[in-house]
Amino acid sequence: MLGREGQRKLGASRALMVGCGALGTHTAELLLRAGVGNLTLVDRDLVAETDLHRVALFTPADVGRPKAEAAADALRRIAPPAAIAPVVAHLDPRLALDLAPKADVVLDGLDNLEARYLINDACVKHGIPWVYTAVLATYGVTMPIVPGRGPCLRCLFPDPPPPGAIPTCAEAGILGPVPAALAAVQVTAAIQILTRSPDLAPGRLVHLDLWTGLAETTSVERAPDCPCCGKRRFEFLAQPSRTSVLCGDSVQVLPRTHGDLDLDGLAARLAALGKARVQGRVLVVSIEGAQLTVFPDGRALVKGVSDPDRAQTLYDRYIAR
Ligand SMILES: [Zn+2]
Repeated sequence: MLGREGQRKLGASRALMVGCGALGTHTAELLLRAGVGNLTLVDRDLVAETDLHRVALFTPADVGRPKAEAAADALRRIAPPAAIAPVVAHLDPRLALDLAPKADVVLDGLDNLEARYLINDACVKHGIPWVYTAVLATYGVTMPIVPGRGPCLRCLFPDPPPPGAIPTCAEAGILGPVPAALAAVQVTAAIQILTRSPDLAPGRLVHLDLWTGLAETTSVERAPDCPCCGKRRFEFLAQPSRTSVLCGDSVQVLPRTHGDLDLDGLAARLAALGKARVQGRVLVVSIEGAQLTVFPDGRALVKGVSDPDRAQTLYDRYIAR
């Protein structure tokens, strides 16, 4: 199908994998086995015991290690000739702008929409193709984005939803095989991008539900007034820091968008994950060793965390998708 020329192109290509959780590790393994020659892996988190049931690459011996490094070690054993570079860091505008322009394709292993908008801005700004992919519960969606040849993520979702408006994968859970299935679809799109296949369909949104067997394909159109690919306003690259370190082990995180939060609804969804209760006008959640106090305007105080990037990661993972 790819031929010798296609394999040569894959071997010479550079892929950037953002996020090394379930989706990211399956995607990275498939990329390497397909013959991609250079792979950079970005993730700031550590491997947790609870990750092991749905990831590729990690074993119990990796628990506590940085995900990017553990994934890189496993991938070097799978594909010794490949150049693999782990980056253990929070994905912020500076890092996105540093890494995305060096890649031929960027793949999505992220767990929040905020970081996806950041990647979308960096890729559209520099004309780098990327594959948007998200998984939740029993289903996933994926769409190749080729700047100049189809829609971008903000053509599909113009603005981030208000905090707490949609369930996160941390709340709804993910059926084990779903990330593996969506990884296969997104790597196929990446192979088409890297080999310049005429069959690549920018803007083709695939929705796949493994539990019901539903598979749907829709064609997303480019939005002429898209703030990102239309007006070329890269708001997520330009946004100021949303965090401030307060005295003691505490960080304040500001919401990305304004609007009142449904604290009771959020509490009900988070209850399965940790202790969550509404106290007067605030929601208090204990999760991942930290305590989040969430205010009705979406602002949160994260206690037990002194690293602002870690606080923002917790916020984006549990409060805003
Ligand atoms: Zn757009």
